[in-house]
Amino acid sequence: MPIVLFNTLTRRKEEFSPLRPPEVGLYTCGPTVYNFQHVGNYRTYIFEDSLRRSLTLFGFKVRHVMNITDVGHLTSDADEGEDKLEVGAAREGKSAWEIAKLYTEAFLSDCRDLNLLPPDVLCKATDHIPEQIGLISRLSAKGLVYRTSDGLYYDTAKFPAYSRLMGSEHVKGLEEGARVAANPEKKAPTDFAVWKFSPKDKQRQMEWDSPWGKGFPGWHIECSAMAMKYLGETFDIHCGGIDHVSIHHPNEIAQAEGATGKPFVRWWMHGEFLLMNQAKMAKSAGGFVTLAEVKAKGFEPLDYRYHCLTAHYRRQLDFTWDTLSAARTSRRRLREASIELAKEASAPAPAEFADAFRASLGDDLNLPEALASVWDCLRSNVAPAAKKGFLEMAEGMLGLGLFKEEMVELTPEAKELLARRAKARAEKDYALADKLRKELEGVGILVEDTKQGQKWRRK
Ligand code: AMP
Ligand code: ZN
Repeated sequence: MPIVLFNTLTRRKEEFSPLRPPEVGLYTCGPTVYNFQHVGNYRTYIFEDSLRRSLTLFGFKVRHVMNITDVGHLTSDADEGEDKLEVGAAREGKSAWEIAKLYTEAFLSDCRDLNLLPPDVLCKATDHIPEQIGLISRLSAKGLVYRTSDGLYYDTAKFPAYSRLMGSEHVKGLEEGARVAANPEKKAPTDFAVWKFSPKDKQRQMEWDSPWGKGFPGWHIECSAMAMKYLGETFDIHCGGIDHVSIHHPNEIAQAEGATGKPFVRWWMHGEFLLMNQAKMAKSAGGFVTLAEVKAKGFEPLDYRYHCLTAHYRRQLDFTWDTLSAARTSRRRLREASIELAKEASAPAPAEFADAFRASLGDDLNLPEALASVWDCLRSNVAPAAKKGFLEMAEGMLGLGLFKEEMVELTPEAKELLARRAKARAEKDYALADKLRKELEGVGILVEDTKQGQKWRRK
């Protein structure tokens, strides 16, 4: 069965085949670690993790590389303003290095909570300064960069394929000056910094010597340099959020292809936005939700993962606490069914449902449809052992923690009530057991009596 993936470069769904089967090189743009990531960011990472798991299900061996941007991302994507890391440092009274460490750790902890498989290579921009300087030197030797008073800029007029990824509709917007704050020294609005000089009047915390002067890399150069270092000059798939189609990814292509003269990436894939109040969820827009808030409201991180799987990755998805509650209810039902089935012996997944599941994933990662075939199988009259086999296979792909008991910390009060109720039942004091059941309900815990003893879940 083939896997067909939409390629932003050709704007078509194409049957995927890697350069060196069964290996697949996958690069995904990682976080800028100056603050907590919000659940909008995690929608993109969940899409990328689902892609990785699907490719594995289809028999490919994925080598996944993700970067950590810990320098060079300025407050405007058009190379203006201050470095986001330095802004974060000033805000929190810490050094830029401390900020990077703090938010990288927070990101990795969220990734574990969301069941995102760790990349094979997780690479920091600050650990790859020589590689970035090396790439800029290649561009400089080819006459593709020019110098201004504040840095070295890519001369996009010398790379005619520059707008290929974004398509003509975007280019018009750029010409009309949609690209933020024009820098008078730039030859064209699409030109971008590959190296910025340290400001003369201000000591930067992160800066390095280079053949062009003391400074730091532009935001885009790290991805081109590290992707090529770990995956080769041409590789299979590169992903990111849809906002990267118009600036960051065309810049990555210009840097890589300008230097090598070879195609950089074969499949470009982009995840659509998570919206809140009809707008892209974004730190700058003020309205954003972190995973910590999701947890504080009593949700499990994987409820959010389920929420993301209910929409195709190329469609926008609205976030509200109600939609998250609906996802939690569905995931709970699925998990309760899975835990019940876990007691069965396993039989192979029934072909009818397994094929439908794979066909949905093979059709440009149609996860909502794949999820529907999980429900179809559960509702069918297939033998429980085969249902279990199917669910185990599906869980490997969906990563919803279906066979794990609820990971909720009980309050000491609830723990004590549960213990007293178990004792009352053991002593056949059913009147007391019923009374305690009601008390537990009052603290948000529902109890059910099964052959294996009392089971609880949150209301
Ligand atoms: P950043 O930390 O801003 O560099 O973003 C990390 C990733 O999250 C990038 O791939 C962005 O395209 C993506 N992203 C940012 N905002 C959203 C959103 N509201 N919905 C989905 N993805 C997003
Ligand atoms: Zn990138």
